[in-house]
Amino acid sequence: MLDCRPKQLGAAGSWCAALPKDDSAALVLFSGGQDSTTCLAVALNKYPRVETIGFDYGQRHRVELDQRENIRRSLAERFPAWRGRLGNDHLVPIGGLAPISATAMTAPIEITTSETGLPNTFVPGRNLLFLTFAAAFAYRLGIKRIIAGMCESDFSGYPDCRDDTIKAMQIALNLGMDARFVLDTPLMWLDKAATWSLAEALGGPPFIELIIEETHTCYLGERTVRHDWGYGCGTCPACGLRAAGWRIFREGRKQNAKPLVS
Ligand code: ZN
Repeated sequence: MLDCRPKQLGAAGSWCAALPKDDSAALVLFSGGQDSTTCLAVALNKYPRVETIGFDYGQRHRVELDQRENIRRSLAERFPAWRGRLGNDHLVPIGGLAPISATAMTAPIEITTSETGLPNTFVPGRNLLFLTFAAAFAYRLGIKRIIAGMCESDFSGYPDCRDDTIKAMQIALNLGMDARFVLDTPLMWLDKAATWSLAEALGGPPFIELIIEETHTCYLGERTVRHDWGYGCGTCPACGLRAAGWRIFREGRKQNAKPLVS
């Protein structure tokens, strides 16, 4: 039976020791949000073995982290074709980031937008650290492909979600580790509506339902209010993007629907 519980890095045990090089495997940065869950499905469709990695960086709300296990369990239960491909989950503690950050993601301060248009939910260096830790771990696992949900088509303006940043990181990581990692960002040029469409293409209505019920995007950690697009406050920038994408996706569905009687 698949063990969906995350494994703390550094914990006792030999859960990932001395694995052979594996070109058919992928490591997915998996936060428990809509985008990373869609990326996980992309990977499960393509690769025979898919491991997931998440980061406990002292985020203000742990809802996303809590949902990771539920999402993995639902994927394994409801998608038999993916069950055998879903490998271990790994949770990496990054304790130093929150204390040096002053952001709405790591401290109880109001979400605002700066003069540059960047919301104060931006955590400087976060994705750069995530990719570095993921590559260090992929190095140990013998995994070449690292899949992440960064997107610059329909985003909050975070500079570490831009394609140029990811390309530069790939070069830096490969130079710094003398490796040939491929940083794959399948959502980079998709807007949020297209991300919903991709999810439907990958797993059909059951996967859409899983995303709505299990994934978490809201910056405020709100999980008591359910909308047709999922749980969240409905007003923070993350909820706004998710809801707007859902509306466009749903309208597209209606337009593409074939009439029962012509
Ligand atoms: Zn929200």
